[in-house]
Amino acid sequence: MQRLQDRVAVITGAGSGIGLATARRFAEEGARVVCVDLDEASGSAAAAEVGGLYVKADVTVEEDVVRAFRTAFDTYGSVDVAFNNAGISPPEDDSILETGIDAWRRVQEVNLTSVYLCCKHAIPYMRRQGKGSIINTASFVAVMGSATSQISYTASKGGVLAMSRELGVQFAREGIRVNALCPGPVNTPLLRELFAKDPERAQRRLVHIPVGRFAEASEIAAAVAFLASDDASFVTGSEFLVDGGISGA
Ligand code: NAD
Repeated sequence: MQRLQDRVAVITGAGSGIGLATARRFAEEGARVVCVDLDEASGSAAAAEVGGLYVKADVTVEEDVVRAFRTAFDTYGSVDVAFNNAGISPPEDDSILETGIDAWRRVQEVNLTSVYLCCKHAIPYMRRQGKGSIINTASFVAVMGSATSQISYTASKGGVLAMSRELGVQFAREGIRVNALCPGPVNTPLLRELFAKDPERAQRRLVHIPVGRFAEASEIAAAVAFLASDDASFVTGSEFLVDGGISGA
């Protein structure tokens, strides 16, 4: 029996990296996958690959988010899982002294406001069903901070963590579980873009990861599939670290 058989799962940022790996894993486990991404080429390719549905949406725009969840419900009849994962990397110099207000606001919009919007518009469907699992992508930096100065990014992910804990506690009695996924550094286009700007940063980061390597996106997807499934029936409001030990080092 596949753990996510016939579950309807909405994934934001499904066109690349962690979202794409999770779309593949969810499909393998039997889910009907709704791939949401701003980038039409990669989002529709992901949907085609996993036999799912593509919805072009900007997760910072409320009408787009409403449309994404409505499309999932209208097409498949439920919304069982929301993996609110789309995000952007920090601006080039994201120290408190250098980050401008526009860059700060953009990171909060894409990384944090989007999660607020997705939770807001997923929960009513789950509430009616009396069941649902929401996984919001935070980061290990939300737990331990970052010595590499990424204030807008770390603050946005700290917000995701706090929001997930709050919602997990608030909706526990209604059968809706909400968890914050906290990946360590993962080998995806987002990380590669960051390290291309600052190659030394990759080396500095690597030495602090106890397992001695970056994660592959499929290793993060495995944890998301667990959180989405009934195997995680007693897991809610958690900061779920999948970080190769970096936060404990
Ligand atoms: P990625 O860049 O590979 O993929 C992100 C996807 O989100 C892209 O397909 C992009 O088109 C989409 N997206 C961006 N803005 C969007 C918007 N406004 N509306 C809709 N879609 C949008 O990134 P990734 O590494 O897979 O990261 C996924 C999540 O994991 C992000 O929230 C990121 O902050 C987080 N994260 C990544 C790492 C890492 O090391 N890669 C570590 C911890 C947390």
